[in-house]
Amino acid sequence: MSDTEVPESHPRYQSLLTRHRIETGVEKGITSPQGLIAQGRGEAFDYLLGERTLPSADEAERVAAAHLLRARHPVLSVNGNVAALAPEELIELAGVTDADLEVNLFNRTEERIHTIAEHLREHGAHEVKGTTADERIPGLDHERAKVDADGIYDADVVLVPLEDGDRAHALAEMGKTELVIDLNPLSRSPRSAAVPIVDNVIRALPNITAHARDLTDASAEELDHIVDAFDPDATLQAAERAIRTNDD
Ligand code: ATP
Ligand code: MG
Repeated sequence: MSDTEVPESHPRYQSLLTRHRIETGVEKGITSPQGLIAQGRGEAFDYLLGERTLPSADEAERVAAAHLLRARHPVLSVNGNVAALAPEELIELAGVTDADLEVNLFNRTEERIHTIAEHLREHGAHEVKGTTADERIPGLDHERAKVDADGIYDADVVLVPLEDGDRAHALAEMGKTELVIDLNPLSRSPRSAAVPIVDNVIRALPNITAHARDLTDASAEELDHIVDAFDPDATLQAAERAIRTNDD
């Protein structure tokens, strides 16, 4: 089945398309088999959220854009699911916010890192970090701790779509401002984030880019104000409420 063989009128069109991209990602060696399980979890939460961007998530996406724009060194962390689902959207966001892209895998293999870096370059990325792996995140076991010294290790703001709970926690412990995209508001990863974004990466990435474009000319004071006014707990609660009550 190719992307074009699912009729757009199908009620689960977007969801089937997304699933198909992950399957292709696994076939190409971009996504790990565990990535399929993460995808299944994500689909279940997206279904409960009504497969839409909640107003609270839209606000968090604007705050994330403000963080990326005012950062000294923003980095977008790329894993096998995001690389398969939204490579162009990632590259566009990196361009608009002047952020680095760094491949950062839970199940790290050198081969998969290189396959993903190549995949991103095929989609137009100029520089992809993650292959040097010459620094370590403190508090994690060896393979999962590896990062680039001039990438995530040096970053002040990191966008981590679908990060696992342990590493999200370890990055926050390093004092980095973490922006986490995760459809499960109860998961540990969004709970350790400065900005939890409870939305599908497919919708979240282009929306952060749109907000960043909108804020390009904003003053430093304006960006500070957007960042300071944000309440992560309220966002998580709004998402949980939406799931439980089917309401915004
Ligand atoms: P932990 O509590 O350690 O974070 P977890 O249950 O979140 O554990 P993971 O394997 O990291 O374990 O789960 C993947 C996460 O990614 C899930 O929370 C899932 O909802 C989320 N997810 C999967 N696909 C997407 C997507 N396309 N967009 C946003 N979030 C997604
Ligand atoms: Mg998680």
